[in-house]
Amino acid sequence: YGDASQKIDYVFKVVLIGDSAVGKSQILSRFARNEFTLDSKATIGVEFQTRTLVIQHKSVKAQIWDTAGQERVLLWYRAVTSAYYRGAVGAMLVYDITKRQTFDHIPRWLEELRGHADKNIVIILIGNKSDLENQRAVPTEDAKEFAQKEELFFLETSALESTNVESAFLTVLTEIFNIMN
Ligand code: GDP
Ligand code: MG
Repeated sequence: YGDASQKIDYVFKVVLIGDSAVGKSQILSRFARNEFTLDSKATIGVEFQTRTLVIQHKSVKAQIWDTAGQERVLLWYRAVTSAYYRGAVGAMLVYDITKRQTFDHIPRWLEELRGHADKNIVIILIGNKSDLENQRAVPTEDAKEFAQKEELFFLETSALESTNVESAFLTVLTEIFNIMN
């Protein structure tokens, strides 16, 4: 799934950040392997998965980094934080549309990101679990407004139903690609 060709023209590192349990690992697993686990275990350590795709006739290997537990502590150990953000050209800032607190923490995540990552990093705000519309606690408009103010891309996704996951990654990867070309 996803491996487009042997020859790689670009490798783009993209980091996933946001509170625990918002669905970061399931978004990654949906994108990298087209899999979803309803009762997923918390990630251990920092890990990444890759998927190679074609953008404008070039093969782009997306190397997506996912975190693990440390997300409970907003201030990581310095060494871990800088290794995580080092070389990242894209970031996906994830909250859960059914948990207001995870959206309220987004400014802090953004601050950390802007403090550690390259200033030209492409950022998308993602409201995950859009399949749980009946439990929605964050209006789409609030997130849209915030994203506009902070100049972020924005999409609501469902890793469960596979809604907009592909689009979210493509938005970030295509923008990075365009900046480089
Ligand atoms: P992480 O801590 O941010 O990596 O979150 P996980 O990916 O481990 O997901 C936390 C929980 O939310 C798990 O029970 C997932 O099955 C569930 N989950 C993740 N994405 C979705 C989604 O799009 N819809 C629903 N309904 N549940 C999801
Ligand atoms: Mg995880």
